[in-house]
Amino acid sequence: MSRLLFWLALIFLVGFAIRSKIREAQKRQQPFNQPPPAGAGPAPGPAARQHGNAEIETMLQCAHCGVFYPASETVQARGRDYCSAAHAAMPPA
Ligand SMILES: [Zn+2]
Repeated sequence: MSRLLFWLALIFLVGFAIRSKIREAQKRQQPFNQPPPAGAGPAPGPAARQHGNAEIETMLQCAHCGVFYPASETVQARGRDYCSAAHAAMPPA
């Protein structure tokens, strides 16, 4: 009987821990869904994005290896985007 109570308590604690972790993650994501505060200026356009906003950086996929990387680190060759100069020199996969 005590063994059953032990398992019930364990399951309850694990469930509570998981739920609080999920709630914590949701709380951290919320600010991104909200509009910027008044007086923050106009939303940054494509030109501003190139200077590197660490929070909303456009991600590109390498034409050779398929890895995703920040658009500011792109290496362009033959009209395609690559993650590095080494992959730009290789043919697309
Ligand atoms: Zn690559």
